[in-house]
Amino acid sequence: MLAVDRASVMAVLEGLEFGKSDFVLLDEVNIEQFMENLKLRFEKARIYTFIGEGVVSVNPYKQMDIYGKEDINAYRGRELYENPPHLYAVADAAYKAMKRRAKDTCIVVSGESGAGKTEASKYIMQYIAAITNPSQRAEVESVKNVLLKSNCVLEAFGNAKTNRNDNSSRFGKYMDINFNFNGDPTGGHINNYLLEKLLRGGSDDMLKSLHLHNDPANYVYTRDGAVATTSYNDRYSHNAVLSALNVIGFSEEEIHSIYRILGTILILGNLQFETDRESVLVVGMEDVSHIAELISTEPNNVTKSLLYRTVATGAGEVIEKGHSEKEACFGRDAFTKALYERLFGWIVSRINAVIEVKDYNPVLHGKNTVIGVLDIYGFEIFDNNSFEQFCINYCNEKLQQLFIQLILCQEQDEYKREGITWQHIDYFNNQIIVDLVEQPHKGIISVLDEACLSVGKVTDTVCLESMDAKLGQHPHYTSRKLAPSDKTMEFHRDFRIRHYAGDVTYSVEGFLDKNKDPLFQDFKRLMFNSSNPVMKEMWPDGQLSITEVTKRPLTAATLFKNSIVALVEKLSCKEPYYVRCIKPNDMKSPALFDDARCQHQVAYLGLLENVRVRRAGFAYRQAYTRFLQRYKMTCEYTWPNHLMGTDREAVEAIVTQHGFQDDVAYGHTKLFVRTPKSLFTLEQERAALI
Ligand code: ADP
Ligand code: MG
Repeated sequence: MLAVDRASVMAVLEGLEFGKSDFVLLDEVNIEQFMENLKLRFEKARIYTFIGEGVVSVNPYKQMDIYGKEDINAYRGRELYENPPHLYAVADAAYKAMKRRAKDTCIVVSGESGAGKTEASKYIMQYIAAITNPSQRAEVESVKNVLLKSNCVLEAFGNAKTNRNDNSSRFGKYMDINFNFNGDPTGGHINNYLLEKLLRGGSDDMLKSLHLHNDPANYVYTRDGAVATTSYNDRYSHNAVLSALNVIGFSEEEIHSIYRILGTILILGNLQFETDRESVLVVGMEDVSHIAELISTEPNNVTKSLLYRTVATGAGEVIEKGHSEKEACFGRDAFTKALYERLFGWIVSRINAVIEVKDYNPVLHGKNTVIGVLDIYGFEIFDNNSFEQFCINYCNEKLQQLFIQLILCQEQDEYKREGITWQHIDYFNNQIIVDLVEQPHKGIISVLDEACLSVGKVTDTVCLESMDAKLGQHPHYTSRKLAPSDKTMEFHRDFRIRHYAGDVTYSVEGFLDKNKDPLFQDFKRLMFNSSNPVMKEMWPDGQLSITEVTKRPLTAATLFKNSIVALVEKLSCKEPYYVRCIKPNDMKSPALFDDARCQHQVAYLGLLENVRVRRAGFAYRQAYTRFLQRYKMTCEYTWPNHLMGTDREAVEAIVTQHGFQDDVAYGHTKLFVRTPKSLFTLEQERAALI
C-alpha cells in the first residue's frame, strides 16, 4: 500500500515539475506545445514521456541511473500511470497483456540511426529476462541467456557498418520471444532486415570490431581449419563476440569458417585488376591463393570467377566471356557484399535453430504466446535521398498503416468489451501512399522492376519518365517535369512522394542498378563447390547449372517488399506497443537539445498524429478500483473511505463533484475520459492535497 502511494506521488510530482508525463495531457496538440514539453523534460533529465501506452525516448548520451534492480521492481506488475514514464512501463504493459489476457503483443522501437533503438531494445529484453522465471529453472535460464547473447553477435556483425556509413544496410531487426503458460521464455526467432543488395562488404570497422586486422598473418591461422592454436586463443579469448558464439553453440569449425569468410572479404576489398594487352588480370596472385585457401578451393577457380562469366547463348551453348576491367571490379564488389550478406543470414539462421521452440505441446503446456520486439529505422530524409531511403520510407508507410489499423481496432475492441458506443475517429489514412508504392502493375516498385527486366539499355531517366507517365496524376506523386515551377527539384533526376510524415524528394540516380541482382552466377558456383561444408551450405543456389538460371532473380525492391509484407503480417495479429526514439543532436552531446533536428524527427515519427489518434474518442481510461484509489482524497464522499455501493458509484461521485460528468463514459469495468484536461485538473488537485 505504502509503495503504491509513494509511486503515485512520484508520478504526480513528475507531472508538474518536469513537464507533462504524457503528451496526451497537452492542453492542445500542436507542434509548439509538443516541442516545449519534450525539451523541458530532456533538460530535466526526464528522457521518457508517454503517449498513451507508448513511450517517446530522447537519447540521453550519458549513463542514467534508472535501469537498476529497484527500478525493475518498481515497474513490475504496475499500471502505466503509477510510475514515471519508462521503457519498463511499456515492456511491463506488453508482458501483462501477454500473460493475463494470453495476447500476443509486440513492441515497435523506431527512430533514426543513433536515436537509441538498440539500447532501448536491450533494456526491454533485460527487463523481460529479469521478471521471468522466478524459480530459475535451468532450461529457461539457458533460453534467456542465448536470447541475450544473440544480440551481441548480431550487433557485432550488423552494427559496425553504421560507424562508417550512417546510411547503413541493416535497418531492422525483429525478434519474437515465445512464452509458455507460466509466462516464462521458451524460445524465440530472429528476422533481420537488410537492404540486401546494398551492403558495403568488408568495412574496416566491422573487421576491427571482430579483432581482425588488415594483415593476412592475423587470419591465416584458419588455413587448415586447424583446431585453435595458442596464439588464436590468446588473441581472441577476450573477444565477447567469440564467447557469445560459443554460448549460442557454434562449433569450432563453424567459427573458423566465419573468420575465413571475413578474411576473404578483407582480401577481396583490396584486390585490384589490370589490363595487359586486351586481357584483364588480377594484380597480385598471392591474394588469389590466400582466398582459395580460405574458401577451400583451387586458385584457378577463384581467378576464373573473378575474370570470366559463363553465359548461355540463344542456341543453348555455354560459353565463357571475359570481363572488362570495369566489370571485374563490379563483380568483385558484388561478390564481397554477397559473402557478407550470406554469412550474416547464415549466422541468424543458426541462432534461430538454437532458440527455436522445440517439443511444445499446447495441450500439455497451455497456449504459447509471443512478444515481438522490432528495432527498425524510422522515416529517413537526407539532403540526397536514394533507393535506400525510398525502401525505408515505404516500410514506414506500411508500419503507419498497421498502426492505424491496430490502434483503431484495439480501441474499437475495448469499447465493445466495455459496452461503450464507438465514436468516429478522424485521421489521415495513408493507404493511398502505400498503394502508390506497391500496387501491382502501376505502383513505383512495379515500374522499377519493369525497367530492370526490359531488354536493352534503360536508364534511370527513362525509368523516371515511365513513372511520370503512370503516376503523374497521383495526388502524392510529383516530379519536376510535371511541376516545372518547383525549383527545389532537379529536372531530370528527381521525383517526390508526399509521405504521411512529409514530402521527400528522391533522386532516381542509381535506382536501377541498386534494384538489380548484381551477382554473377559464377561466384555462387564457386562457393557451392567449396570443400568447406559450412560455406557450401550458405550457397545452395550455386548448384544450379547455367541453363537452369535463365529465370531472372527477384529484384531488390520486390524482395524488400515481400519481406515487409511478411513482417506486417506477423505484427498484425499482435497487440502493439510503441517506443519512439529521438536523437537530440548530432554531436552525441548529453546537454544539447537541437530544436530543429528534434522537431524534424517528431514530424517524421508522426508523433502528433499519434497523439491525435490517442486523444480522439477517449484519451484516457482507467479501471474503477485504480481510479478510486488514486483520486479518492479529492472528494468528500470517498475520503477516507467511500460508503457507496460499488467502486463505480464512488467514481461517479468524484467525477460529478469535479463537474466533468459530460466528459466521461462509464464502461463495465473502466472509466473513460474524453479530454485530458479533466484528468489534469484532478491530478493538480490531488497533488495539492498530498
Ligand atoms: P540506434 O540503434 O538507434 O542506432 P543505439 O541504441 O545504438 O542507436 O544508441 C546509440 C548510442 O547512444 C549508444 O551507443 C549509447 O552511447 C547512446 N545511448 C542510447 N540510448 C541510451 C540510454 N538509454 N542511456 C545511455 N546512453 C544511450
Ligand atoms: Mg541500432
